Amino acid sequence: MSQATTIFDKILSGEIPCHQVYEDDHVFAFLDIGPLSTGHTLVIPKERKAHLHELSEDSAAALGRVLPRLCRAVLEVTGASDYNVLQNNGAAAHQAVMHVHFHIIPKIHGAGLGISWPAGNLDAAEGRDLARRLTAALEKS
Ligand code: 5GP
Repeated sequence: MSQATTIFDKILSGEIPCHQVYEDDHVFAFLDIGPLSTGHTLVIPKERKAHLHELSEDSAAALGRVLPRLCRAVLEVTGASDYNVLQNNGAAAHQAVMHVHFHIIPKIHGAGLGISWPAGNLDAAEGRDLARRLTAALEKS
């Protein structure tokens, strides 16, 4: 798994400017340079990890603690009431910057995140098997 430096390291170090929104010991937030809607905000751990599943408990906890607060601020300032929180992992999942980040994207007069959601049907037997295997995997972790 890649822990290579990215443009977000340069933002964290101040080498590249950004419109900073928030900072604490573990988390940094700033406006996305290519917003899908006004107020589109990126929330990143200071820990340099490419994917969500690689994060330390401390970073994960800090992100989880502050995300709702950041969402409230984006809603208050933009006047939006609907929004998406998006977190991509891997190039095939549309991740362009290989440093964990959450997008907060308000929905404003149709602007925001467009989603294709090609839903299938969960087969009962497959569901039982998958849930059992996932539970077992969690017990090992
Ligand atoms: P991803 O597709 O990896 O989930 O999203 C990466 C996001 O980072 C994109 O929305 C892109 O606009 C944003 N981004 C890339 N480079 C910069 C930058 O230099 N500054 C800021 N503020 N955002 C960036």
